[in-house]
Amino acid sequence: MKAAVVREFKQPLVLEDRPIPEPGPGQVLVKIEASGLCHTDIHAANGDWPVKPTPPFVPGHEGVGIVERIGDGVTRVREGDRVAIPWLGWACGECEYCTTGWETLCELQKNSGYSVDGAWGEYALAYGSFVGKVPGGVDSFEAAPLACAGVTTYKAVKVSGARSSDLVAIFGVGGLGHMALQYAQIAGAHVVAVDLLDEKLQMAKDLGAAYTVNARQQDPVAAIKALGGADVAISLAVSPKAFEQAYASLRRGGTLVFVGLPADNEIRLPIFQTVLNGTKVLGSIVGTRIDLQEVFELHAAGQTEVLYEKRHLDDVNDAIREVEEAKVKARLVFDLS
Ligand code: NAD
Ligand code: ZN
Ligand code: ZN
Repeated sequence: MKAAVVREFKQPLVLEDRPIPEPGPGQVLVKIEASGLCHTDIHAANGDWPVKPTPPFVPGHEGVGIVERIGDGVTRVREGDRVAIPWLGWACGECEYCTTGWETLCELQKNSGYSVDGAWGEYALAYGSFVGKVPGGVDSFEAAPLACAGVTTYKAVKVSGARSSDLVAIFGVGGLGHMALQYAQIAGAHVVAVDLLDEKLQMAKDLGAAYTVNARQQDPVAAIKALGGADVAISLAVSPKAFEQAYASLRRGGTLVFVGLPADNEIRLPIFQTVLNGTKVLGSIVGTRIDLQEVFELHAAGQTEVLYEKRHLDDVNDAIREVEEAKVKARLVFDLS
């Protein structure tokens, strides 16, 4: 089988021909049809974060395909099922986090395309208990971005507490952002979308954003303050500056949610204003299996739109460059069908 492999950080990925892996106990072998390119895969390939993967590894945590074989003890899915392989590849199921609805915080978790090989290949292994079941009416190429960009921003909107009539600022309208603004609107909020590129902002408008701000041409803090300040700001941009602007754009009592994970890992926040304004700052990491199921249900019900363009896995290094240069409208999805 063909797979795109990170052999060394910050070097082009290598297309390798590898043996099709055997599913071990609890595992399933998935024949991949569609596999999304999340900015996290680029951070993984660059070794950007404090906790790094170990090359060689196969990235990819938005993989959708058909279960071809199942290992011992798998009961939740069977051969022929269409499933999604998300970032949360496995969690222990027994710790305090796993048993209280916070499996995404499990300290023993395995992450697809990071600590275990992911979905940028013709086949991938996954754990039967942790794959998402893709509903019949949902296209595989739309299901793929939902498996990370969708579930992550759905969860971020959930933990933000955004509700009807709130103003939600979305910083960064890429793969994640184009879904985030839809979930904020489903919660009943008005959205102000912030990006550096007019094409991204036009897409945000087309998806229903009430306001847009080009942060290259206008100070987003002043623009959002002029609207009364944001009740919630969700920072998805791969830039610390956007996090500081997102913080400063909040009204009193507002909530900032950190989701983006720039390589440059620090920002400065003022203590005094945080205390006096009663500001909340939260981090949010992907979503649980139930969150993913809800994301698929919303999409199957026609409530969300996934914007994507197909690429061939052979062009993986060009595709990465396109995302880094923000030339992609929303999401790229590798076509392995
Ligand atoms: P993307 O490249 O598709 O989108 C990023 C967007 O931010 C682009 O539209 C870009 O133009 C915009 N941008 C860049 N600098 C900006 C600035 N200063 N102000 C406003 N906009 C700016 O990336 P993505 O796939 O959506 O991922 C975004 C980030 O989220 C990445 O760091 C990724 O690793 C992270 N991520 C986090 C989680 C999580 O669970 N917390 C899950 C998935 C991805
Ligand atoms: Zn992702
Ligand atoms: Zn656990």
